[in-house]
Amino acid sequence: GEAGEPLLDVEAVGVAFGGVKALSDVSFRLHRGEVLGLIGPNGAGKSTCFDVISGVNARHAGRVRLRGEPLAQARAAGGLARSFQHTRLLEDRTVLDNVMLGAFRRTRSGVLAAVFGRDAKDEARVAASARDCLARVGLDAHAQRLVETLSLGERRLVEVARALMADPEVLLLDEPAAGLRRADRERLVALIRALRAQGCTIVLVEHDMDIVMALATRVVVLDRGRLIADAAPAAVRRDPRVIEAYLGM
Ligand code: ADP
Ligand code: MG
Repeated sequence: GEAGEPLLDVEAVGVAFGGVKALSDVSFRLHRGEVLGLIGPNGAGKSTCFDVISGVNARHAGRVRLRGEPLAQARAAGGLARSFQHTRLLEDRTVLDNVMLGAFRRTRSGVLAAVFGRDAKDEARVAASARDCLARVGLDAHAQRLVETLSLGERRLVEVARALMADPEVLLLDEPAAGLRRADRERLVALIRALRAQGCTIVLVEHDMDIVMALATRVVVLDRGRLIADAAPAAVRRDPRVIEAYLGM
Protein backbone atom coordinates (compact mmCIF):
# COMPACT_ATOMS: atom_id res chain seq x y z
CA GLY A 1 0.00 0.00 0.00
CA GLU A 2 0.86 3.68 0.06
CA ALA A 3 3.12 5.26 2.65
CA GLY A 4 1.14 6.22 5.75
CA GLU A 5 -1.53 3.58 5.19
CA PRO A 6 -1.96 1.52 8.36
CA LEU A 7 -0.71 -2.04 8.21
CA LEU A 8 -3.62 -3.17 10.36
CA ASP A 9 -6.86 -1.25 10.75
CA VAL A 10 -9.25 -2.41 13.48
CA GLU A 11 -12.54 -0.58 13.15
CA ALA A 12 -15.49 -0.70 15.55
CA VAL A 13 -14.90 -4.33 16.45
CA GLY A 14 -17.37 -5.99 18.80
CA VAL A 15 -17.56 -9.55 20.15
CA ALA A 16 -20.30 -10.98 22.39
CA PHE A 17 -20.30 -14.36 24.13
CA GLY A 18 -23.93 -14.82 25.07
CA GLY A 19 -24.64 -11.81 27.26
CA VAL A 20 -20.98 -10.98 27.85
CA LYS A 21 -19.62 -8.20 25.66
CA ALA A 22 -15.97 -9.20 25.40
CA LEU A 23 -15.26 -6.30 23.00
CA SER A 24 -17.38 -3.20 22.31
CA ASP A 25 -16.67 -0.76 19.49
CA VAL A 26 -12.89 -1.16 19.60
CA SER A 27 -10.90 0.80 16.99
CA PHE A 28 -7.17 1.24 16.61
CA ARG A 29 -4.51 1.19 13.92
CA LEU A 30 -1.13 -0.41 13.67
CA HIS A 31 1.62 1.13 11.55
CA ARG A 32 4.68 -0.55 10.09
CA GLY A 33 7.58 -0.80 12.52
CA GLU A 34 5.53 -0.29 15.67
CA VAL A 35 5.60 -2.40 18.79
CA LEU A 36 2.08 -1.85 20.07
CA GLY A 37 1.50 -2.78 23.71
CA LEU A 38 -2.05 -4.08 24.23
CA ILE A 39 -2.77 -4.05 27.94
CA GLY A 40 -5.64 -4.19 30.42
CA PRO A 41 -6.84 -6.13 33.46
CA ASN A 42 -7.74 -9.82 33.21
CA GLY A 43 -10.91 -10.30 31.19
CA ALA A 44 -10.47 -6.94 29.40
CA GLY A 45 -10.69 -8.59 25.97
CA LYS A 46 -7.04 -8.72 24.88
CA SER A 47 -6.99 -12.37 23.81
CA THR A 48 -10.39 -11.99 22.18
CA CYS A 49 -8.95 -9.07 20.21
CA PHE A 50 -6.11 -11.33 19.02
CA ASP A 51 -8.68 -13.99 18.07
CA VAL A 52 -10.40 -11.44 15.81
CA ILE A 53 -7.20 -10.09 14.25
CA SER A 54 -5.77 -13.57 13.63
CA GLY A 55 -9.01 -14.86 12.12
CA VAL A 56 -9.66 -17.42 14.90
CA ASN A 57 -12.92 -15.59 15.64
CA ALA A 58 -14.78 -14.61 12.48
CA ARG A 59 -18.04 -13.90 14.33
CA HIS A 60 -17.44 -10.30 15.22
CA ALA A 61 -18.95 -6.89 14.52
CA GLY A 62 -16.95 -4.18 12.76
CA ARG A 63 -14.10 -4.78 10.35
CA VAL A 64 -10.42 -5.53 10.28
CA ARG A 65 -8.17 -4.70 7.35
CA LEU A 66 -4.63 -5.88 6.81
CA ARG A 67 -2.69 -3.83 4.24
CA GLY A 68 -6.02 -2.27 3.26
CA GLU A 69 -7.64 -5.62 2.45
CA PRO A 70 -10.39 -7.46 4.31
CA LEU A 71 -8.81 -9.88 6.73
CA ALA A 72 -9.89 -13.11 5.04
CA GLN A 73 -8.28 -12.08 1.75
CA ALA A 74 -5.15 -10.67 3.39
CA ARG A 75 -4.63 -13.75 5.53
CA ALA A 76 -4.70 -16.01 2.52
CA ALA A 77 -1.61 -14.13 1.38
CA GLY A 78 0.10 -14.79 4.72
CA GLY A 79 2.17 -12.38 6.73
CA LEU A 80 0.44 -12.55 10.10
CA ALA A 81 1.22 -14.98 12.92
CA ARG A 82 0.42 -15.23 16.61
CA SER A 83 1.34 -17.03 19.78
CA PHE A 84 -1.39 -18.27 22.12
CA GLN A 85 -1.64 -17.36 25.81
CA HIS A 86 -2.75 -20.92 26.51
CA THR A 87 -0.20 -22.84 24.48
CA ARG A 88 -1.46 -25.16 21.77
CA LEU A 89 1.29 -27.73 21.46
CA LEU A 90 1.31 -31.46 20.82
CA GLU A 91 2.44 -32.79 24.20
CA ASP A 92 3.81 -36.15 23.03
CA ARG A 93 5.85 -34.72 20.15
CA THR A 94 9.27 -33.09 20.23
CA VAL A 95 9.91 -29.38 20.41
CA LEU A 96 11.31 -29.51 16.86
CA ASP A 97 8.21 -31.29 15.48
CA ASN A 98 5.96 -28.71 17.10
CA VAL A 99 7.88 -25.82 15.60
CA MET A 100 7.99 -27.55 12.17
CA LEU A 101 4.20 -27.84 12.27
CA GLY A 102 4.13 -24.03 12.40
CA ALA A 103 5.12 -24.06 8.74
CA PHE A 104 2.05 -26.10 7.83
CA ARG A 105 -0.67 -24.77 10.10
CA ARG A 106 -1.94 -22.10 7.78
CA THR A 107 -3.97 -24.28 5.49
CA ARG A 108 -5.75 -27.57 5.98
CA SER A 109 -4.03 -29.06 2.95
CA GLY A 110 -0.73 -27.91 4.43
CA VAL A 111 -1.43 -29.83 7.61
CA LEU A 112 -2.36 -32.91 5.60
CA ALA A 113 0.85 -32.59 3.63
CA ALA A 114 2.73 -32.35 6.92
CA VAL A 115 1.13 -35.54 8.18
CA PHE A 116 1.19 -37.59 4.98
CA GLY A 117 4.73 -36.94 3.95
CA ARG A 118 6.60 -34.40 1.95
CA ASP A 119 9.71 -34.98 -0.01
CA ALA A 120 12.88 -35.27 2.04
CA LYS A 121 14.38 -32.06 0.68
CA ASP A 122 11.33 -30.08 1.73
CA GLU A 123 11.42 -31.69 5.17
CA ALA A 124 15.12 -30.87 5.62
CA ARG A 125 14.49 -27.25 4.65
CA VAL A 126 11.63 -26.93 7.14
CA ALA A 127 13.69 -28.60 9.89
CA ALA A 128 16.59 -26.19 9.30
CA SER A 129 14.21 -23.26 9.47
CA ALA A 130 12.64 -24.65 12.69
CA ARG A 131 16.09 -25.01 14.28
CA ASP A 132 16.84 -21.41 13.36
CA CYS A 133 13.57 -20.26 14.99
CA LEU A 134 14.40 -22.31 18.10
CA ALA A 135 17.85 -20.69 18.26
CA ARG A 136 16.22 -17.27 18.12
CA VAL A 137 14.22 -18.03 21.30
CA GLY A 138 17.19 -19.76 22.95
CA LEU A 139 15.80 -23.30 22.81
CA ASP A 140 18.12 -24.83 20.20
CA ALA A 141 19.58 -27.22 22.79
CA HIS A 142 16.08 -28.54 23.55
CA ALA A 143 14.93 -29.47 20.03
CA GLN A 144 14.58 -33.21 20.78
CA ARG A 145 12.78 -32.93 24.12
CA LEU A 146 9.14 -33.91 24.34
CA VAL A 147 6.86 -30.94 24.96
CA GLU A 148 5.36 -32.70 28.01
CA THR A 149 8.73 -32.33 29.80
CA LEU A 150 8.91 -28.54 29.31
CA SER A 151 8.25 -25.83 31.87
CA LEU A 152 5.47 -23.31 31.22
CA GLY A 153 8.03 -20.68 30.24
CA GLU A 154 9.69 -23.03 27.75
CA ARG A 155 6.29 -23.86 26.22
CA ARG A 156 5.65 -20.17 25.66
CA LEU A 157 8.98 -19.82 23.89
CA VAL A 158 8.10 -22.81 21.67
CA GLU A 159 4.84 -21.01 20.79
CA VAL A 160 6.85 -17.94 19.80
CA ALA A 161 9.27 -20.04 17.72
CA ARG A 162 6.32 -21.69 15.96
CA ALA A 163 4.85 -18.27 15.11
CA LEU A 164 8.24 -17.18 13.72
CA MET A 165 8.06 -20.05 11.19
CA ALA A 166 5.58 -17.97 9.21
CA ASP A 167 8.26 -15.26 8.81
CA PRO A 168 5.46 -12.87 9.76
CA GLU A 169 5.21 -9.22 8.83
CA VAL A 170 2.83 -8.82 11.79
CA LEU A 171 3.44 -10.86 14.94
CA LEU A 172 0.87 -11.02 17.74
CA LEU A 173 2.34 -12.16 21.07
CA ASP A 174 -0.12 -13.07 23.85
CA GLU A 175 1.63 -12.82 27.25
CA PRO A 176 4.87 -14.35 25.96
CA ALA A 177 6.79 -13.54 29.17
CA ALA A 178 4.35 -15.08 31.66
CA GLY A 179 6.11 -17.80 33.65
CA LEU A 180 9.52 -17.03 32.19
CA ARG A 181 12.60 -16.83 34.37
CA ARG A 182 14.58 -13.60 34.42
CA ALA A 183 17.20 -14.73 31.91
CA ASP A 184 14.50 -15.94 29.49
CA ARG A 185 12.62 -12.65 29.88
CA GLU A 186 15.74 -10.72 28.95
CA ARG A 187 16.26 -13.00 25.97
CA LEU A 188 12.65 -12.43 24.89
CA VAL A 189 13.00 -8.66 25.14
CA ALA A 190 16.17 -8.84 23.01
CA LEU A 191 14.38 -11.09 20.49
CA ILE A 192 11.46 -8.65 20.15
CA ARG A 193 13.91 -5.78 19.61
CA ALA A 194 15.75 -7.82 16.97
CA LEU A 195 12.50 -8.76 15.20
CA ARG A 196 11.52 -5.10 15.06
CA ALA A 197 14.93 -4.18 13.67
CA GLN A 198 14.37 -6.83 10.98
CA GLY A 199 11.14 -5.11 9.93
CA CYS A 200 8.57 -7.10 11.89
CA THR A 201 5.60 -5.17 13.30
CA ILE A 202 4.48 -6.46 16.69
CA VAL A 203 1.45 -6.36 18.96
CA LEU A 204 2.39 -7.37 22.49
CA VAL A 205 -0.07 -8.40 25.19
CA GLU A 206 1.92 -8.42 28.41
CA HIS A 207 1.27 -7.94 32.11
CA ASP A 208 4.88 -7.16 32.97
CA MET A 209 4.83 -3.35 32.74
CA ASP A 210 8.62 -3.12 32.71
CA ILE A 211 8.63 -5.16 29.50
CA VAL A 212 5.77 -3.16 27.96
CA MET A 213 7.41 0.16 28.83
CA ALA A 214 10.79 -1.04 27.54
CA LEU A 215 9.45 -2.22 24.17
CA ALA A 216 6.22 -0.47 23.24
CA THR A 217 6.25 2.50 20.90
CA ARG A 218 2.54 3.03 21.69
CA VAL A 219 0.08 1.47 24.12
CA VAL A 220 -3.61 0.62 23.71
CA VAL A 221 -5.53 -0.07 26.91
CA LEU A 222 -8.68 -2.19 27.11
CA ASP A 223 -10.97 -2.34 30.13
CA ARG A 224 -14.06 -4.54 30.19
CA GLY A 225 -14.10 -4.73 26.42
CA ARG A 226 -13.69 -1.01 25.78
CA LEU A 227 -10.69 0.92 24.54
CA ILE A 228 -9.87 3.49 27.25
CA ALA A 229 -6.50 4.80 26.07
CA ASP A 230 -4.31 4.86 22.94
CA ALA A 231 -1.15 6.87 23.49
CA ALA A 232 2.60 6.89 24.12
CA PRO A 233 3.71 4.60 26.98
CA ALA A 234 4.61 7.45 29.34
CA ALA A 235 1.25 9.17 28.79
CA VAL A 236 -0.69 5.94 29.32
CA ARG A 237 1.15 5.35 32.59
CA ARG A 238 -0.13 8.70 33.92
CA ASP A 239 -3.68 8.40 32.52
CA PRO A 240 -6.22 8.54 35.40
CA ARG A 241 -8.65 6.18 33.59
CA VAL A 242 -5.90 3.61 33.15
CA ILE A 243 -4.79 3.88 36.78
CA GLU A 244 -8.40 3.48 37.91
CA ALA A 245 -8.94 0.42 35.69
CA TYR A 246 -5.93 -1.29 37.25
CA LEU A 247 -6.81 -0.29 40.81
CA GLY A 248 -10.30 -1.69 40.29
CA MET A 249 -8.92 -5.15 39.43
P1 ADP B 1 -8.04 -11.03 28.46
O1 ADP B 1 -7.23 -11.75 27.44
O2 ADP B 1 -7.92 -9.54 28.37
O3 ADP B 1 -7.77 -11.50 29.86
P2 ADP B 1 -10.27 -12.38 27.20
O4 ADP B 1 -10.28 -11.84 25.82
O5 ADP B 1 -9.71 -13.72 27.41
O6 ADP B 1 -9.59 -11.32 28.19
O7 ADP B 1 -11.76 -12.41 27.75
C1 ADP B 1 -12.65 -11.28 27.64
C2 ADP B 1 -14.00 -11.66 28.20
O8 ADP B 1 -14.62 -12.60 27.32
C3 ADP B 1 -13.98 -12.33 29.56
O9 ADP B 1 -15.13 -11.93 30.26
C4 ADP B 1 -14.00 -13.79 29.22
O10 ADP B 1 -14.56 -14.52 30.29
C5 ADP B 1 -14.90 -13.80 28.00
N1 ADP B 1 -14.60 -14.91 27.06
C6 ADP B 1 -13.43 -15.07 26.37
N2 ADP B 1 -13.50 -16.14 25.55
C7 ADP B 1 -14.74 -16.69 25.74
C8 ADP B 1 -15.42 -17.82 25.20
N3 ADP B 1 -14.85 -18.59 24.27
N4 ADP B 1 -16.68 -18.06 25.65
C9 ADP B 1 -17.25 -17.26 26.56
N5 ADP B 1 -16.68 -16.19 27.11
C10 ADP B 1 -15.43 -15.89 26.72
MG1 MG C 1 -5.74 -13.15 27.63
